[in-house]
This record gives sequence, C-alpha cells and structure tokens, in this order.
Amino acid sequence: MRPSRISALLTAIVLYASMISCSDNNTYVPRIQRDRDKDKEFSIGQSYAADDEDIIDEIEVSDELCDISDIEEKVQLLIDHIDDQEDEEVIKNDIQFLLDMYDKLYEAHTNMEVVFYRNYSDNDLESEYNKFYRAAFVAEDLLAHGFIYGYNSKYKKLFEDLVDEDDFTKHAGEYDLEDARIESEASFDDRSEAMSSYYEITNNNDLSNKEKDLQCAEVLLDLLSDYNTDILYSQYDRDYTGDEILELSDTVKKELIPVYNKLIDKYFDMPNWAASYYTDNDGSDPFEIIREYAPLLSEDISKSADIICNEKLYSIYDNAEAFPGAFTDDMPYQKKARVFIGNVGEENELNSAIHEFGHFHACLYDDTPAYLFKNNMDIAEIQSQGLELLFMQFYDDIYGDASDPKKIEKVMDLLDSVICGFLVGEFEYTVVRDMDNMTPQDVVDLFNDIFKEYSPYYNLNIIPHIFESPGYYISYATSSLAAFDIFEDMQKNPKKALEQYEKIAKTSYNSGEYTFRMALKECGFSDVLTKNYISELADEISNYADSF
Ligand SMILES: [Zn+2]
Repeated sequence: MRPSRISALLTAIVLYASMISCSDNNTYVPRIQRDRDKDKEFSIGQSYAADDEDIIDEIEVSDELCDISDIEEKVQLLIDHIDDQEDEEVIKNDIQFLLDMYDKLYEAHTNMEVVFYRNYSDNDLESEYNKFYRAAFVAEDLLAHGFIYGYNSKYKKLFEDLVDEDDFTKHAGEYDLEDARIESEASFDDRSEAMSSYYEITNNNDLSNKEKDLQCAEVLLDLLSDYNTDILYSQYDRDYTGDEILELSDTVKKELIPVYNKLIDKYFDMPNWAASYYTDNDGSDPFEIIREYAPLLSEDISKSADIICNEKLYSIYDNAEAFPGAFTDDMPYQKKARVFIGNVGEENELNSAIHEFGHFHACLYDDTPAYLFKNNMDIAEIQSQGLELLFMQFYDDIYGDASDPKKIEKVMDLLDSVICGFLVGEFEYTVVRDMDNMTPQDVVDLFNDIFKEYSPYYNLNIIPHIFESPGYYISYATSSLAAFDIFEDMQKNPKKALEQYEKIAKTSYNSGEYTFRMALKECGFSDVLTKNYISELADEISNYADSF
C-alpha cells in the first residue's frame, strides 16, 4: 500500500472544522464520523431528505466512466502511438483525451459522492460509490504509468508538465501497464481494508475508548509503513518541514492554549451564550443569506453566490441518513464544484455554508485538470476560513443580540483549528519519524501526552483524518494561522482584509504554481510560520477577548 494524491484528495476533500461542542455533556464531536449500523436499501438517485425543497434536481450519475478496463485501453493506445512513433499531434490529442476523461471521471465521482453521502448508511450506495472511488484511484495510476512512459520516450517534452518526482518514485519498477493496474488495485484494496478495520474498531460499542485507541494505533502503524517524513508532506505540496512544525508547536502550546482558555471563560461568562449557540437562521436557506450579503463584499463574490444559488450546486440534508459533515468537491469538467452539508445542526448551517462557499468561490477560479491537482490544503483552507472571518462584519445584522457570543465562537473555532492542527501535526510527524521503534502503546501514549494540556476530549480513535489522509491535518493549523492575518486586518483596515482575501481566493490551490509561503507573500500576508507571528497573534486575540 502506498500514499496517493487521489486518495488524499478524495478522502480528505475539504472538511468543515467544527466548533467545540457546547452541549450538556460537552463531549467532543468528531469532525467526521461514520455510522454503519443501519441496513436500508435505497436505490441510486432516490432522495430521502426531510425537506423536499432541499433536494437538488436529480443528480445524474453515469457509471459507464467507471470501467477500469476501458481506461486501461485508452492509456494503452497512447503507449502504442508512442511505440509507433506517431506524429506529435497524435500524442498531444491522446494526452488531452486522457486528461478530459479523468476530469469526467472525477466529476462523476463528485456527483456520486453527494448521492451516497445523503444516504450514508445505505450499503448498496456505498458499494456503488466505491466503484467510482476505485476507478478514479486506479485511473490516476494508469495515467501516471502512461505519462512516465511518454516522458522516457522521444516525446519527452510533451510530458514534462505531467510527471513529477513522486510519480517516478511511486511507479518505479513497474513492468507494463497491466502490472501498474494490478499494483494500483491491490493498493486501493489494501487501503480500503485498513480503513474498514479502522471503522470497525471505532463503531464497536463493546470496546472502551482505551481499547479502541490501542487497536487503532496498530492499524495506524500498518498504514504508515510505506510513508516517510518526506512523503508525509510532499503529497500536499508543502514548503515547510515537520521539524519546523515541531518547533512552532511548542510556541502554540505555550502561547495560544492560555488565550483559548481565556476566550472560553469570556464566552461562558456571557449570560446569553447558550441561547446564542442554538440561534439558527430561522429556516432561511443559508446560501440565500450569503447571496444577500455577498454584494457588500465584492462583485466577484456576489457572482459566485449567484452561480451556486441559481444552479443549485449545494445540498443540505438534515435527516438522520445523511453524512454528518460538510465538504466541497470539484467538478473539473464543468469547472464548477458541489457543496454538501449534512446534519451539522441547524445552528451550524450558515457557518458551514459560508465556509464551503469560500471553497466553491475559489474553485470557480481554478481550471487545473483534475489529474494535475496539487491539493494544497494550506491554501484551500485560507479560502474558506478567510471568508468566514470576513462575514463576521455582518454578525450584528444577521444575529442581533446573539452577535457577541457568535463572534467569540468563530474566533474559538479558528483558534481550535490552529491548536489541534499543531498537536495532531506534531503527533503524526513524530510517529512517522520514530515508527520503527514504536509499539501501538507508545503511539497512544504519545498522542495522549501531546493532548493532555489542551483537551481530554480528544482521543486517537476519533480523528479519522489521521487514518484516511495521513499528513493532512497540519493544514488546518497553517491555514487558520493565515486566516487570522485577515482577522487582524479586519479590525483595523477592512478594505485591506478584503483585498487580501480576494487575492488568495483566486490563487490556485491545485495548479502547483504557488506553494503556501509563496502564496502568502504574493497576496500580502505575513509570514505566519514564525514564533513571532504566533506570539503577536496571542496578544491580539487576548485583546479581542478583553473587548467584550
Ligand atoms: Zn474547508
């Protein structure tokens, strides 16, 4: 089994960071959780949303794109044309055909994803969805094999932008295309197997939390056996190292955790925090609320709001069958995207919608073919979190009396992303670095040791990202740090904050043209991965807390 760009992308998607749970028992609600104890039989395309108005006009899902032998045949054609020394034009056409085919397959995957995620406990739909996921996963490997073949031929220059170092490492030693397919299918199946073991453990109510942690640690060590510290970060196109993160993590613990605790105290001192927490948008469609305020930000943001509303490229599901979480996934063939929001709680719908709309808006400016997606989550999450912060300007108007607690909630939410991101980042990097000498118990101890000063509600087994997309989590931290730069400007110079946001929203997180630090510099952000920035941020948020 080995890490793959598509598996990171498809499983991680872009996940909504949830606010600490303020319910009575105050238990932490994981950002994603799966529940498979129901056994219902629905057929594809049927909708079971509680509110009919929320159902998108039937999403078309065509599975003719999922035929792996068909994909293999198309890649073989490219290889044959290379062997036959055909004209460059023929080779160029083959390349374009394959990139388009992959875009269509990816888009079909996105559509099927929404269909499945709205009926998340349906086993039939799950296996149908897995077909798309598997086809996309294997197709990526087959294309990579074909493109490397081209790169090693006299047509080298046509393939230069299509292959990178990771591809060479991953596909080294592949004998032929069939070999590449067998390897890829086995890799997908291994990964699925590891993921099912993970979900079996977390859904087993007979196990205590401690037992779950220990068993999950075993799964994790197995999953990570093909990783090293370089791959852990290079798969997300990062321009910082795990060692830098370890160093900054110390500063985060020392400086930001106390500020977070101060905000919590402030929040619970507010007499109306509970009422405010459960304030929702009175049944209004959150995307219509976004459309209403978008023109106050900019013409471009307003245009995107019109597109998502007019074309109904979002689905909100409140029913128990839906996946509890939110995401945005690309539709690269049409150069659009789809937003899914399921069971986040009515009081969180608007927030989720703003966050996901930030991703949607950015997707409209990104025309990278899906095969070349760099999946730079550090940049992508600034595009969503930055917009959440910009919308804080309208809280007084939107929430009225509940506005102050809502503002603190938002800042806590983002600060939690920074802190948790660093803690999980520190954990993941340390495990990958030291795993040869670690037992499952060592892994659990390390996790608990890192988290003990922050929150007893986090356990290794409740964070699926660690298992689904190793190395992903640190992006929550880096991007929130950057989003906080917009927050600081918003207090003093809202126009500058908006300008910064508009620039970063149009910076492709997929093309690879910009890495995180380059993008920040280009868009006028501070260098956020420094101790100095983190210390100043701690002061700033502390002052903000005092302002209430
Ligand atoms: Zn996001």
